[in-house]
Amino acid sequence: MGSIEASSPSSILIIGSGVFGLSTAYALSQRAQYAPTKITVLDRSTFPAPDAASIDASRIVRADYSDYYYSALCIEAQKLWRQDWGAEGRYHENGLVIAVNSAEDAEAGGKREEMQREMMANLKRLGLSIGKRKDGADVSLLENREAMIDIADGFDGAAGDAGYCNWTSGWADAEAAMKYLETMTRATGRVEFKNAEVETLLFDHSSSAVKGATLKNGEAIEADLVILAAGAWTPKFVDLRGVASASGQVLAYLDITAEEQAHLEHNPTMLNGSNGMFIIPPREQVLKVARHGYGYANFKKIPHPENPDSGEEIEVSLPWTKMDDPHLNIPKEGSDACREFLAQCIPHMAERPWSYTRICWYSDTPKGDWLVDYHPKWKGLVVATGGSGHAYKFLPVIGERIADVVVRKTRDDLGKALQEKWRWPKERWSSDHVWTNDWRGGRKGMLLDEELARK
Ligand SMILES: Cc1cc2nc3c(=O)[nH]c(=O)nc-3n(C[C@H](O)[C@H](O)[C@H](O)COP(=O)(O)OP(=O)(O)OC[C@H]3O[C@@H](n4cnc5c(N)ncnc54)[C@H](O)[C@@H]3O)c2cc1C
Repeated sequence: MGSIEASSPSSILIIGSGVFGLSTAYALSQRAQYAPTKITVLDRSTFPAPDAASIDASRIVRADYSDYYYSALCIEAQKLWRQDWGAEGRYHENGLVIAVNSAEDAEAGGKREEMQREMMANLKRLGLSIGKRKDGADVSLLENREAMIDIADGFDGAAGDAGYCNWTSGWADAEAAMKYLETMTRATGRVEFKNAEVETLLFDHSSSAVKGATLKNGEAIEADLVILAAGAWTPKFVDLRGVASASGQVLAYLDITAEEQAHLEHNPTMLNGSNGMFIIPPREQVLKVARHGYGYANFKKIPHPENPDSGEEIEVSLPWTKMDDPHLNIPKEGSDACREFLAQCIPHMAERPWSYTRICWYSDTPKGDWLVDYHPKWKGLVVATGGSGHAYKFLPVIGERIADVVVRKTRDDLGKALQEKWRWPKERWSSDHVWTNDWRGGRKGMLLDEELARK
């Protein structure tokens, strides 16, 4: 096989139709170099996959990062969210409050306040103004609980003790924007969508190359280049121990009245940096409470994915969703955490039952940087995953950046810096490294089956 990136492969197989896979398919379809290439997107679910991380009522779009480069990439994405990408209700720029619980933060050595300062410094560096809302500033400080309550219509409680609001952040209707991208991708006439479940990649050990994938139905699909973008399921297909791991995150939804919707819908998203809890403004009379947490690990012993016939087994954390068990709900621990945050922010709704709950799976990396790179051992394989709970917001721009990795190009300094972060790590973290070291709330070390068993 020649150099895939220098020549045009005759076929590319993209596994996974989430943010990473679908955006890459679209970006490649736009490049003249790939005009003769057959591009296939394969997913085990028909689009939109109901348990994919990319499919949900809402996702936060924020340039509020303590890392400058993700902030800068979000500013690029937001330019597009403000145009066609965000039209027809797909993007709402209501603002985002980042709050802290002062006592909790002081106990933890003031880490969250420091993170806030770094976020604000990056926003300033990217040209956002800091000052009073009434003077037209982009970002305003919320110095106490009263300021937190005042800022949100329909809130009779505060999301935290102090913080700031970035009025230029917002949220996207996640499923609607994915459908928008799907429509654009189909309209190119360049991408074939196939609905089938991958069982393994086709490894050719003699040439150290991946040649395609075998499906659950026994069929094999061959391709010159495979782009593995199976989200939190990716550790099923290559050995990602100490590189990326699935963590289950809690989402709880409650029904609200039309009147409550009218009060809450123009509010900023409320995110508490101390415990990772957040409430996104409601959509269609449904309010969502969730946690950006360390999450639950779900350990499974599986045949070594790169050598399934060897008899060797490895243990990895993999998703467990309503597709595996239609009755699956969030554990009591997660439900209690969501309820407590709801009671803190909107006490009069605290007793209302959840209409729906869901465990949604992050592909977590030790530092929270994505993993977008050629595999160091297997030729013909690019891995694009490791969203670590923060990739959705980049939907309008992420595909182009992944396509740059595929062709081994850096279009600018930002791309250069990001590609450094997304590189396959030189060393794996210890193989039992499952929970990220990135900023998260909740407890570290929770196991899904143990938490589900607690009443
Ligand atoms: C609860 C939650 C909240 C989040 N909040 C935010 C937020 O506010 N802002 C933000 O920017 N980001 C957020 N994220 C992160 C963001 O949604 C993810 O980083 C992103 O969607 C990951 O996309 P993906 O393509 O890697 O994975 P997915 O969207 O999960 O796609 C993977 C695809 O692979 C398919 N697949 C799996 N196994 C197979 C198989 N065997 N064969 C074929 N196909 C298969 C699946 O069906 C799925 O469609 C959140 C994520 C979660 C879970």
